Amino acid sequence: MKSLSKFLAISCVLCLLTAWSPAQAPKQPDRQVAITIDDLPAGMSDRLPATAITEMTAKLLGTLRDQKIPAVGFVNEKKLYKFGEVDERIKALQMWLDYGFDLGNHTYSHSSLNQVGLKAWEDDVIQGETVTKLLLAQRNKKLRHFRHPYLDTGRDLQTRRQAEAFLVERSYRIAPVTLDGWDWMYAGVYEDAKKRGDTALQQDLVKSYLSYHDAVCAYTEKLALQMIGYEPKQILLLHASQLEADHIGELMDMLRKRGYRFITLEEALGDQAYSLPDMYVGEEGTGWFDHWAITMGKPPQGAPAFPQWVIDRSKALQLPQGIVPVAPPPQ
Ligand SMILES: [Zn+2]
Repeated sequence: MKSLSKFLAISCVLCLLTAWSPAQAPKQPDRQVAITIDDLPAGMSDRLPATAITEMTAKLLGTLRDQKIPAVGFVNEKKLYKFGEVDERIKALQMWLDYGFDLGNHTYSHSSLNQVGLKAWEDDVIQGETVTKLLLAQRNKKLRHFRHPYLDTGRDLQTRRQAEAFLVERSYRIAPVTLDGWDWMYAGVYEDAKKRGDTALQQDLVKSYLSYHDAVCAYTEKLALQMIGYEPKQILLLHASQLEADHIGELMDMLRKRGYRFITLEEALGDQAYSLPDMYVGEEGTGWFDHWAITMGKPPQGAPAFPQWVIDRSKALQLPQGIVPVAPPPQ
């Protein structure tokens, strides 16, 4: 009798366990994200020798390739032209294709559509095609992706639409951004700390970079549900830097923990969210959730504040214009 009741008790527990899991376990959303990396061959290309750029590129791409994570790199060809280093810098770009990644255009000199005007910006787009187009053609591939520098898409709707028509005419698809943890801001401070051998600061920066990206993901996922009722295939913006070369693996682990799997930019762009009405215009470039929310007349609130101490350290370094944009931190 005693053993029968024990058997029944165990059976009941087993029944309950079977009944609860996995059918009633909280369902993890099927999250997907495409990785995009801007400012190739390197964000701080004028301060890095070509050998450092090559080393950084190999490390960054090695991690992504080993983890089978697709990525598109967006090029500023002006950064190739440093006396005595042109060949090696072009080889760093070539490495992206050799490793199986794709390349897109980010204008020749990283010019802002909002600052230079439509005509000069169009010229910068065209000038930014020369080498990248050639490298892609050698592999029977076409230059198809474009990313706006500073995410500046135009100060008025007419300019914005004219720029878009120009890009379509040249067979580009614009690469939007839905996840942006301002890694470039961390990257400048990290590079300086690394150069000075300040390992404590490097660790603090990496910890903050990972937790801020985590907070940006949590905020965006929630906002997506509120705004459009589902989480679209996301597009993450990163930059070619020493920070990413050293730590992108940990960032990818964080994304996996949130339930993300990695897809190509084309796959992400297949999401219907990227056809949502978008009338955003403004002095400052911003992500596509802001575009959609502002178009709907509901500017989003409650975005995680970027850590002030990183901004202060970045300002103190007085990084050259083009690395540190004039935009205020997201609030
Ligand atoms: Zn850029």
